Amino acid sequence: MMETDPRVPVIVEIDKVLDKFASFDKFRKTSLDNLEEKLQEYLDELDEVAANAPSDESISSGAPLLTSEQVSNMTAVLAQVKEVSSSISSKHRELHSVVSKVGKAIDKNFESSFDFMQPNVPFLREETRPMMLEIICNHLCREGMQDIAEQLMTDSHLTLSSEFTDTYKEVNRIVAGLRERNLKPAMEWMSNNRTQLQEKKSCLEFKLHRLAFICMLADSTQDISAAVEYARNNLTPFIRQHKQAIQHAMGALVFMRSGLEGTPYSDLLNPREWDDLLETFTRDACNVMGLAINSPLAVCMRAGCASLPVLLNIKQVLSETQVQNMWSGKEELPIELHMGEQRTYHSIFACPILRQLSTESNPPMRLTCGHVISKEALTKLIQANKVKCPYCPVEQTPLEPKQVIF
Ligand SMILES: [Zn+2]
Repeated sequence: MMETDPRVPVIVEIDKVLDKFASFDKFRKTSLDNLEEKLQEYLDELDEVAANAPSDESISSGAPLLTSEQVSNMTAVLAQVKEVSSSISSKHRELHSVVSKVGKAIDKNFESSFDFMQPNVPFLREETRPMMLEIICNHLCREGMQDIAEQLMTDSHLTLSSEFTDTYKEVNRIVAGLRERNLKPAMEWMSNNRTQLQEKKSCLEFKLHRLAFICMLADSTQDISAAVEYARNNLTPFIRQHKQAIQHAMGALVFMRSGLEGTPYSDLLNPREWDDLLETFTRDACNVMGLAINSPLAVCMRAGCASLPVLLNIKQVLSETQVQNMWSGKEELPIELHMGEQRTYHSIFACPILRQLSTESNPPMRLTCGHVISKEALTKLIQANKVKCPYCPVEQTPLEPKQVIF
């Protein structure tokens, strides 16, 4: 039998929440709009009464300022205010119950206890907590949620280096500019960092100027000679590396007056040009600023989401076969997990002699012959101040093998 997807019942509940929110929003809007209109009438009427009111002396004479009809109208409006506000608050309470059903669906359909992972999660240890907070803040800053990151640091009595936050502020400002199709901030940043970008063999400068040129081509108010001048000044230095791209863009000049749509150059107007530039900027800026391209937190979360189901299965199997103690290594997983090529970062080394994964205290050692074994295995093989490779077998002194660092 095929196992049902545990996400389905949760998605059903989430859809209910979204429906409920939408209908709440609709109700709130219509009833409040209606009420607001009536209240405005009420206020206008009061203003009118105030404007036509006789002087103070005659008020005390006892003549009523409002007609009985006005009084009853306004009483009705006030009653309606009460009614609408109470029905809004009761509908608001109903939202809570649908939201809580999502939580219940998650609890029911997903494993909620990850205690078995505890010995393997270094971030749960007290001494590594600041590091975890830093990673969370790093992620928040990347996503442009600087204020939340700062609040989190304040609440945890930690300080975030201003260099760190300023760097992200700068990147986010430029990214926001590019999203609004404004090249200026990126252009400025590029010219301030030209040397480093060139060292990294970045083509950001070319891409920026090319897109600026395309913007001129697409702008019917632009002068053709200005576009030619721009290309001459800014694209010429790249003619060697990007000859074809420049030729193609220059060809579009012919259609500048009549517009590029429907011409062989319409691809230049593709919005993907902007996505591509954004990607190049993010990658190269992170490279120059020494930041990871992907948020470390997001990478960990994705890796965790990909590996947890497998680990949960293993846990099940281990408990059924009563070999719970098999998985005891603190920095070791019970099986090899394939995370896909995108998430392949570090090679791991398993000692062929001791059949253990290498650790910081037991690193891989390269013998003079090129064979690699773990340090512990090496120590065990020492005899009379000599080590004989278990594979070839070349002899060497125990000081000759060198640690392998991945
Ligand atoms: Zn060897």
